[in-house]
Amino acid sequence: MTMIKCISPVNGEVYAERPAMPLELAKQAVGHARLAQKSWAKRPVEERVKLVLAGVARLNEMVDEVVPELAWQMGRPVRYGGEFKGFNERSNYVASIAADALKPIIVEESDRFERRIEREPHGVVFVIAPWNYPYMTAINTVAPALMAGNTVIIKHASQTILVGERMVRAFIEAGVPADVFQNLFLDHDTTAALIAAKSFDFINFTGSVEGGRSIERAAAGTFTGLGLELGGKDPGYVMEDADLDAAVDTLMDGATYNSGQCCCGIERIYVHESLYDAFVEKSVAWVSNYKLGNPLDPETTLGPMANKRFAATVRHQVADAVSKGAKALIDPKLFPQDDGGAYLAPQILVDVDHSMEFMREETFGPAVGIMKVKNDGEAIELMNDCQYGLTVSLWTRDPERASRIGRNLETGTVFMNRADYLDPALCWTGVKETGRGGSLSILGFHNLTRPKSYHLKKVTA
Ligand code: NAP
Repeated sequence: MTMIKCISPVNGEVYAERPAMPLELAKQAVGHARLAQKSWAKRPVEERVKLVLAGVARLNEMVDEVVPELAWQMGRPVRYGGEFKGFNERSNYVASIAADALKPIIVEESDRFERRIEREPHGVVFVIAPWNYPYMTAINTVAPALMAGNTVIIKHASQTILVGERMVRAFIEAGVPADVFQNLFLDHDTTAALIAAKSFDFINFTGSVEGGRSIERAAAGTFTGLGLELGGKDPGYVMEDADLDAAVDTLMDGATYNSGQCCCGIERIYVHESLYDAFVEKSVAWVSNYKLGNPLDPETTLGPMANKRFAATVRHQVADAVSKGAKALIDPKLFPQDDGGAYLAPQILVDVDHSMEFMREETFGPAVGIMKVKNDGEAIELMNDCQYGLTVSLWTRDPERASRIGRNLETGTVFMNRADYLDPALCWTGVKETGRGGSLSILGFHNLTRPKSYHLKKVTA
C-alpha cells in the first residue's frame, strides 16, 4: 500500500501519513458524489449557503488544533494564527453574493415570450489544492462550488495532507452531507486516471505550472472544464511620487511573509532612480528584523520553508545570480538558524538583471531582487518580461497613472499601494503561464456553473 507522507519542515521527520486510495475505491467515492449532487442541488441556495457557513464556523472552533498543525505541516509560525482571516473573509463574501450571482438573467418576460439564462451546477467538482495557503486556496473553490449546488471532492497536497481531511470533518460535523464534500488521499497516477476517466465535471487546480500541465494532459479529450491557478513572479514598481515607507513595508512583507511562499508574493521590485538608494537601505533594515526559527515558538516571525527542496531552489537561484554579478545585501550572520536545509535566511539582491534565473523564474521563497528604473516605459517593459502574470503592485499617489500603466501590463490584477492580497469581490485570475479561468467574485460563480438558455414562446389564442 502506498503511503502519502507529510515530512515536517520543523524537524525533517514524518509528521503525518495516510494510505493512498486505490483507483476502484476512488471511483466509488466519485459515484457517491454524483448521486448526492442531485438532491444537494435541489435544496434552496440559502440552505446550501447556510450549511457551508456552518462548516466554516465549525473549522474556526478548531483553531487551537489547526494553528500548530499548520506549523508542523508547512512551517508557518503559530504567532500568525493560521489563515482564518482570509478564509472567513472569502467565505462570507461569496455567501453574501451567492443568491444574486446564481439567479437567472432575464432577457424578456412578456405575454409573448419568456427568455432567460439560468445557471446550473456542473455536477462533481474536483479541487486539487496546494500547501502554501492550504485553507485559503481550497476555500476559494470549495465554498462557491458547494453553494452553487455542486458536490466537491478535494485532493490536498501531500505537504498539507491533514487539511482536506480536517475541512471535510468540520463541514460534515456542521451538517453538510458526507457525500456532498469528500476528501480523498490520492497519488498522482490515481488522480490522472480519475480525470482521464471523465470522473469530474469541473476541475480546479491550484499549484505549479508543471502540475497544471499534467492535469491538462490527463484531461485531454475529456472536455472537462479546467480552472488553472498556477505560478507567479509578481513585480512591484515604486514610482518617484510613492509613499516610500509604506512601499517598503508592504513590498517587503509581500516578498517574505509565509517565507515568501505566496502565489502573489512580490519577487522583483523596480524602483525609480530617485528613490532607489533609500528604498534599498530601508528594505534591508526591514528584512533584518526577522527572527528565523521554529514556527512553534511564539517569538518566531519567519519559519522554515515548507520543504528543504523548496529552500534548495531558492539557494540555487540566489547563488546563480551572485555568480553572475548580483550582490546579496542581507548578512547571513544575522540568521544563524539558517541550517542549509528548510530553515532559510531571507535575502535581498541588487545588481540583478533579467538574464538571471532569479529575476525570471518563480523563486517562491523569502528572497527578492531590486532594480533601478528611469521611467514608466522601462518599468512596464521589465514587468512584462516574464512568462507569468498574476498581480502587479504599483506605488504612486496617482490612480490615473496607475490605471494607465495597468492597461499596458500583462497581468491578472493591478494593485495600487497594496500587494499580496486577494480581494474576494474581484476575479482572481492570471495570464500567460499563471493559468486560466477565474475564481471568486460573481465570475467565480459563473465558472462553477453552466448557462442554460430558455426561450419559451407562448401560445396566444
Ligand atoms: P504542486 O506541486 O503543483 O502541487 C499542487 C497540488 O497538485 C498538490 O495537491 C499536488 O499533490 C498536486 N499535483 C501536483 N502534480 C500533480 C500531478 N502530476 N498529478 C496529480 N496531482 C498533482 O504545487 P505546490 O508546490 O503545492 O504549490 C506551489 C505552487 O502553487 C506555486 O507555483 C504557486 O505559485 C502556485 N500557487 C498559485 C496560486 C494562484 O492563485 N495562482 C495560489 C497558490 C499557489 P502532491 O502534493 O501530492 O504532489
